[in-house]
Amino acid sequence: MKLSFFDKLCCPFDKSGLQLEVYLQDEEKNVIEGLMTCTSCKRYFPIAYGVPIMTPDEYRERQLERPLLEKWKPDFEPQGFLSTP
Ligand SMILES: [Zn+2]
Repeated sequence: MKLSFFDKLCCPFDKSGLQLEVYLQDEEKNVIEGLMTCTSCKRYFPIAYGVPIMTPDEYRERQLERPLLEKWKPDFEPQGFLSTP
């Protein structure tokens, strides 16, 4: 994902702004792994393999996202919609 692309993104649920944490970039400054967090509803949207994961809650695969979150943010506590097992 190009960094400039991030400017065009907003939370798909409430259209609020997103906060970006970049964990891994390639030589062209594309974001390979990162985490976007909504400033309003606190939903988080991981970036994996350069692709922002912004699918609706019910289609999110927490098992797929967990390795990335544990790798970069071992103390990360998902809030809201993803906090209940
Ligand atoms: Zn939101």
